[in-house]
Amino acid sequence: MIVQTNTIKQCIACDKSIRGRTDKRFCNDYCRNSYNNQLKAPSNNLVRNINHTLSKNRRILESLIVENEEMSKVKKERLIQQGYRFKYHTHQYINPKGSIYYYCYDYGYLYLEKDWCLIIRAEKE
Ligand SMILES: [Zn+2]
Repeated sequence: MIVQTNTIKQCIACDKSIRGRTDKRFCNDYCRNSYNNQLKAPSNNLVRNINHTLSKNRRILESLIVENEEMSKVKKERLIQQGYRFKYHTHQYINPKGSIYYYCYDYGYLYLEKDWCLIIRAEKE
């Protein structure tokens, strides 16, 4: 049995004592929001970092295609040198031959033989 008569409830966000219902955990909406946002912070950081990496990948692919061209062949090494992170892409496309295109938004690449990559720009829809 839990005895609650003499318990002074404290707000879990700011430690002020709470009056009112015993099931209250926060003194007000502000404390509830700031507490919940704090809990979410690590995953927000993760999302931000991944978004940043995806944008950087896209920028690298974009920079490797000459303006007005639709594709460009580069060594995989060159992507690595520029800081390309192969782990991250937004989506894939598998063509009828089974080749996999990895996209970062509207730019993508395809592995060719001997460490070459074919960088492509997606057609505008
Ligand atoms: Zn509070």
